[in-house]
Amino acid sequence: MKRLELLTDLQNSAIQCTECPLHKNRVHSVFSRGNYQASVMLVGEAGGKEENKQGRPFVGLAGSLLNRLLKELDISSDLYYITNVCCCSPPNNRTPFLNEIEICSELFLFKQIDIIQPKVIVALGKTASLALLGPGPGILKQRGNWSKYKEFSVLPTLHPSFCLRQPEYEAILKTDLQAAFLCSQKQNHDHQKIK
Ligand code: URA
Repeated sequence: MKRLELLTDLQNSAIQCTECPLHKNRVHSVFSRGNYQASVMLVGEAGGKEENKQGRPFVGLAGSLLNRLLKELDISSDLYYITNVCCCSPPNNRTPFLNEIEICSELFLFKQIDIIQPKVIVALGKTASLALLGPGPGILKQRGNWSKYKEFSVLPTLHPSFCLRQPEYEAILKTDLQAAFLCSQKQNHDHQKIK
């Protein structure tokens, strides 16, 4: 089966999924957008109100900030694929619970990674880092440190919503995004230590 067919099948299962309590809050399943053939996969936490309404990741305020930073870095949307740990938006924008993170990662996130085979994965915030790398010392310590999920290179960084609340951290998110895209364009994609 071709990659696009596999992704479409996976997306169709996400639309009907009832494996965790988050489905009760689902208006639209929030699966992914962007280019499935891109080298970079961005992984967020879960959609908010706007994403639940539109069925697309990062179309609310956090998405506007992320889009602005990517635009400032001259990174167009065909250079990445963007998805979330959880396909259903939690009620009142709460953080997904551990069981919800585990169930949705197994059912949808890890399978998307297997299909897409990205060169670089950017874990946006603590939920994506937890899903891909397991428990860590906290996102402010982890960010900018290259790690691995299976054979895939993962760069944990700050979540755009965190930077909305604390704009002084926006420059760090931008630095990490730039490093991730630069690394994905290198032949041997060696990881430079990020300050
Ligand atoms: N929107 C998303 O799609 N994911 C997030 O993590 C935050 C906002």
